[in-house]
Amino acid sequence: KNHNLFAALRAAFPASLDSIAVEADNGLNYSWRDLDRATAMMANLLESLKLPAGARVAVQVEKSVEAMMLYLATLRAGYVFLPLNTAYQSAEIEYFIGNAEPAVVVCSSKNFGWISKIAFKAGTQNVFTLDEDRTGSLLERAAHCSDRHEMAVVANGDALAAILYTSGTTGRSKGAMLSHANLLSNALVLKDYWGWKPGDVLIHALPIFHVHGLFVALHGALINGSKMIWLSKFDPRRVVQKLPEATVFMGVPTLYVRLLAEPGLDKHACRNMRLFIAGSAPLLIETFTEWQQRTGHTILERYGMSETAMLTSNPYAGAERRGGTVGFALPGVSLRVQGDDGQTLPVGEIGGIQVKGPNVFKGYWRMPEKTKEEFTADGYFKTGDVGKIDERGYITIVGRSKDLIISGGYNVYPAEIEGYINDMPGVAESALVGVPHPDFGEVGVAIVIAKPGITLDAGSIVTTLKSKLANFKIPKQCFVAAELPRNAMGKVQKNALREQYKNLFT
Ligand code: ATP
Ligand code: MG
Repeated sequence: KNHNLFAALRAAFPASLDSIAVEADNGLNYSWRDLDRATAMMANLLESLKLPAGARVAVQVEKSVEAMMLYLATLRAGYVFLPLNTAYQSAEIEYFIGNAEPAVVVCSSKNFGWISKIAFKAGTQNVFTLDEDRTGSLLERAAHCSDRHEMAVVANGDALAAILYTSGTTGRSKGAMLSHANLLSNALVLKDYWGWKPGDVLIHALPIFHVHGLFVALHGALINGSKMIWLSKFDPRRVVQKLPEATVFMGVPTLYVRLLAEPGLDKHACRNMRLFIAGSAPLLIETFTEWQQRTGHTILERYGMSETAMLTSNPYAGAERRGGTVGFALPGVSLRVQGDDGQTLPVGEIGGIQVKGPNVFKGYWRMPEKTKEEFTADGYFKTGDVGKIDERGYITIVGRSKDLIISGGYNVYPAEIEGYINDMPGVAESALVGVPHPDFGEVGVAIVIAKPGITLDAGSIVTTLKSKLANFKIPKQCFVAAELPRNAMGKVQKNALREQYKNLFT
């Protein structure tokens, strides 16, 4: 049996290869046959390079259908895909390429000069370019290759399919090693859990260097043989325009916030939609409710990470999609909440979320010690997220263990305090971070963002909190700011905030 993930994706192509697989925003339509041929040509090119088994193909290019096909071609040829965030600059690229030692590097032609230098220094022989307008040496070279290709046989499902560097929200990014079996198991579970059906059309508006866009969205459409409406960049107006032609949309919370700012977003625009999915960062309850009111649809929030792909999801049908929760553990995923002394906590108690399942990664690339630390003796992976499970099995994430604030010996869970602040009139959002304090060890500092046109008073926010919460939970300082620092996935960069305010009390 061939465990190649591409085999499963290819088997799901519709019988009629002439139908449209991808409708791109540059006006081009790609048929399933185009996908098959182009990935064959790129796979042949990769094979012609005589790369060793397990060779990494590192890719930092703008989002394009060709870049997506390069991912599929890498699977097809049996190599390991390693996507890099397009925001990364020289210091980061130097680290990632030095760390991953890819056999092939593909970059934008505008970056070829400096990236090729870094790549050659790291021993990479093959550097290609690929641009959004379908130019570059990769496609030029692939054009000379046959459009027929015999898929590489992956004899063992544990073989690596991709290395995904984590978003670096809590520190330096780690390379999560994901196998063909990891990715396929998750794709199949989600196909079933989210009720993918014939005729579904996905709007793909996410970056493809991250688990959400590359795996959840892309695999979701492909393994269902579904057409994708492809946006190379998120453009809220364009998404709203395209909604009537689509049935499924996936986005990080900030995309939903930006869509809500589009006047054209209403029930009529969403009349053919079946499912809106959110994840990668917490979805504010306010966004969740406003979306319901405007569109008549209830956003389905799910939770996952680079190391594990998807772990939990709100239900598609049969039970309530509960805002503020990430739903239930997915079929095949065992999830538990543990206390500091390693006992599993009862319903409702807050602790570290640990998981086990066929989707859990093979470890951090070249970090055996770190990998060992993050697994328990009985084989559970410590997600680094803190949360609780209620009596019905709904899971709520209250923060990350690294963001937990220990003030005067008491645990303060940022999400709880942020929830109270976000509920105050005029508040758009907020972040609570811990900073060093001579008496309490650490104290919370709140950074609050006002709704457009509103002036907030930091002092009265603190006063309101004092009337509701225990003293140790009250932020020692509150700042009203213009915006929260976020990365490409819409995650709040709490370490940037901690850095900014670290000397406030010392
Ligand atoms: P790093 O591990 O490098 O610090 P990161 O954890 O942000 O970065 P990712 O793997 O991209 O890197 O993100 C996974 C994390 O995103 C999860 O561990 C969790 O904290 C957060 N997350 C994902 N989905 C949700 C969600 N629905 N609600 C809250 N948090 C979420
Ligand atoms: Mg992480």
